[in-house]
Amino acid sequence: MRNYMKFYIDGQWVDPAEPKSTDVINPATEAVSGRISLGSIADIERAVAAARKAFGSWSRSTVAHRLDVLQALAGEYERRQSELADAITEEMGAPRALANGVHAKLGSAHLAIAIEVLKNFKFEELRGTRMIRHEPIGVCGLITPWNWPLNQIAAKVFPAIATGCTCVLKPSQLAPYSAQILTEIIDKAMVPAGVFNMVQGSGAQLGTALSTHLDVDMISFTGSEPVGVQISRDAAQTVKRVCLELGGKSGSIVLDDADLTKNVTSATIGMMANSGQTCSVGSRLLVPAHRIEEAIAAARAAANAVEVGDPNGNASMGPVVSKAQYDSVQGYIQKGLEEGALLIAGGPGRPDGLSKGWFAKPTVFVTTNDTVISREEIFGPVLCIIPYDDVDQAIALANDSTFGLAGYVSGINLEVCRDIGRQLRAGKIGINGAADLSAPFGGYKRSGNGREFGEFGFREYLEVKSMIGYGADR
Ligand code: NDP
Repeated sequence: MRNYMKFYIDGQWVDPAEPKSTDVINPATEAVSGRISLGSIADIERAVAAARKAFGSWSRSTVAHRLDVLQALAGEYERRQSELADAITEEMGAPRALANGVHAKLGSAHLAIAIEVLKNFKFEELRGTRMIRHEPIGVCGLITPWNWPLNQIAAKVFPAIATGCTCVLKPSQLAPYSAQILTEIIDKAMVPAGVFNMVQGSGAQLGTALSTHLDVDMISFTGSEPVGVQISRDAAQTVKRVCLELGGKSGSIVLDDADLTKNVTSATIGMMANSGQTCSVGSRLLVPAHRIEEAIAAARAAANAVEVGDPNGNASMGPVVSKAQYDSVQGYIQKGLEEGALLIAGGPGRPDGLSKGWFAKPTVFVTTNDTVISREEIFGPVLCIIPYDDVDQAIALANDSTFGLAGYVSGINLEVCRDIGRQLRAGKIGINGAADLSAPFGGYKRSGNGREFGEFGFREYLEVKSMIGYGADR
């Protein structure tokens, strides 16, 4: 049983202002796995005050000092990586291999990238007689979800610290353990007091307190579209910068010349990884209509081969995060059946042999692009295969979405893939399965407005100042 009852404020582990706590449920067993404190407005006030106080010196710290701090963090992170993986398995049900192999490693990858970017980032550029300075924006409120908990915290906290900002993190109540251990890592790495602060608790209460706070300069949020809209409204009162990373319903186009079986198989496996709870996954798989039978056979075989079960065992897919998420996913599967979509794998209920835990079946439908299941983000292991007649239609279908987070294209002719990539209205395009954590990540349309990762991730945390006449003597 884990008991995480303290918050991290001003470099100290402190008791909450008011004693209040909640159970954390293990989604694989439905049993209580631990308890966390729930913060109040008073805790946010303390955390913001600490971050504000620390901003004065941290914003003026040298790059060399910040690099030392980040290097120390990297060492400490490495030492505790397997504990982070354990925590992720327990809090959100990721299978051990995924938690250790991808979840925890994404955190260290973002840290390594922040270090490399910081070494070379030009915080000052003299252009003629103008000095353009990129200065830390100030105190940042960082609000994160549960689906890739460390990835999303790392993609915010490390660039914020690297650029000289100070921050208050409010992690998801559903995934509080990895946030707590990362905070212990930050504490051990001697990050100066107040630079990083962490308060657990309700988003509706604490998130709102951050979004409306006069002394918070920026909010970086990853999560659902409705909450992103609410945060934007709340933050508008104080004209703060809001960077949103929201949902997706990304189209993945398999071209006629591609190896269809291979691509459909990997797209199906990719959809089921992390129980489908990945905002950028290609959840709409667009395949040539004349090869639909081949696509169905490949997707069915791949979905049926996914082993669902105990994330501490050999399963490749664990549960979804909570009962609410399970009910929501089941609702969409039911909706798909009512809409007349063709169910080719999975379906309603738990997989055979699993009577406890929020396990859903790896599910695949063949449908059209106008159904609810192909338009809304399901955030569960449900793939929609959509047939297309020609490439122009495939592009139109991929773009026919309120979201625009990612797009994928697979085919033999790279120039054709590039041309399709240029036409897709989405922030991240993957060609033939390529992935790159240094590339900017963020969405068009209702998928948000921010760009995280690498150099672009730094820019979110920086203000631009022009000093005119700076170089008048040159
Ligand atoms: P939410 O958007 O509700 O939560 C994300 C974070 O925001 C959590 O820390 C949450 O706190 C906090 N929050 C909630 N309300 C507010 C508010 N009014 N002001 C500020 N912060 C707030 O996502 P859920 O976790 O409920 O997931 C619901 C759906 O969102 C998913 O089904 C999926 O569609 C989408 N989603 C998308 C993600 C992405 O990466 N694009 C990631 C996660 C979810 P609390 O701890 O109280 O929940």
